[in-house]
Amino acid sequence: MGCLTCQILQGDLIPPGGIFYRDQDFLICHTLDVNILGYMIVSPVRHIQSYDELSSKEAEKLGLHIHILTRFLKTKIHDIEKTYICSFNEETHHLHFHVFPRYPWMLSSENIHTDGKIDAAKIFSQMRKTYKVGINEEMKNKIYLLAEQFKVFLSEYKD
Ligand SMILES: [Zn+2]
Repeated sequence: MGCLTCQILQGDLIPPGGIFYRDQDFLICHTLDVNILGYMIVSPVRHIQSYDELSSKEAEKLGLHIHILTRFLKTKIHDIEKTYICSFNEETHHLHFHVFPRYPWMLSSENIHTDGKIDAAKIFSQMRKTYKVGINEEMKNKIYLLAEQFKVFLSEYKD
């Protein structure tokens, strides 16, 4: 089975909303199959499998991409309370970072606490399981709009 990220980079797989951003080193897309608006994936263009394989320059750029992306999400989607950032590379081995928006409605799910505290890993896991149902048409339209907004946001971005 081919690498999904490489398939996107080769144009063989179109993520919902299309490619949000791509340069010679990095790719930003919406998640392919989880019906949660603004759940984004940031990947290096190179097919590498772990964070330590990035060059220092790539690592710096990656930090900036994630920073700008989280700022964008917070600005455009007002009910995002927090953004989780994580990288596991178990299902897809091509190094990637999940930029995962935590919405208030997620907190009403069962089994998201450990010792009475919010457990981010549980929320992440549970939401992915519950909403990994494919992207519906309504969501596709929202993601497409989000991609357009991101392009404008980037072109006007100031630190
Ligand atoms: Zn790959």
